[in-house]
Amino acid sequence: MFRATLLTLMPDMFPGPLGQSLSGDALARELWALEVRDIRAHGLGRHRSVDDSPAGGGPGMVIRADVLGAALDDALAPEDARPRLLMSPRGKPLRQERVRELAAGEGAILVCGRFEGVDERVIAGRGLEEVSIGDYVLSGGELAAMVLLDACVRLIPGVMGKLASGSEESFESGLLEYPQYTRPRDWEGRSIPDVLLSGDHAKIARWRREEAERLTRERRPDLLAPDG
Ligand code: SAM
Repeated sequence: MFRATLLTLMPDMFPGPLGQSLSGDALARELWALEVRDIRAHGLGRHRSVDDSPAGGGPGMVIRADVLGAALDDALAPEDARPRLLMSPRGKPLRQERVRELAAGEGAILVCGRFEGVDERVIAGRGLEEVSIGDYVLSGGELAAMVLLDACVRLIPGVMGKLASGSEESFESGLLEYPQYTRPRDWEGRSIPDVLLSGDHAKIARWRREEAERLTRERRPDLLAPDG
């Protein structure tokens, strides 16, 4: 079973949206498991302090390596081979390919940063893989971890009703998805394209492919030439 172990300073944020809808239903059906651990349980002193000022000066605070290291050691059995991910704007951008790999595995450890981030030494010392959900800065890693988990959980077998609804989606074929329509046939002077009502499945497939290529060319040409 896909098991997510989450290390956070904001444990009350979970399961949050992950407890709703598709992922929440799958959680209740035990198709995946979520363990939330409070980093502050390993904080130091009477105030359970977890952070300190940056070496070399500068604004903000940094999560201490000894505190986060102890929290990770407590969470992980030595034989635990799940990927150890640190949510970080400096990380490799998350793409559907990585989501697919993760969803096919045993799960993941997810570390949620706060403040200015975490002491660099714990990243190297515990082999953390930095993952970014986009080129913008959030105030904490919790929402990023939720995004990553939501993307993974929906790919776990049995979570989505029809497997096909996943295989035709944006990014799965290297293209954005074609436009979707449903009833009513006419709405505010706009109609469903005739081809979709023709019943000719080959024609529909061709139209969808052409539309997917057009949208990808217009909006995300980088997907058509990912190395160029
Ligand atoms: N000082 C850091 C920097 O400039 O790279 C930003 C720290 S941010 C305010 C606090 C935490 O939010 C980070 O440690 C990380 O866990 C999370 N975070 C922020 N933006 C993120 C993103 N785009 N992807 C993943 N995690 C993010």
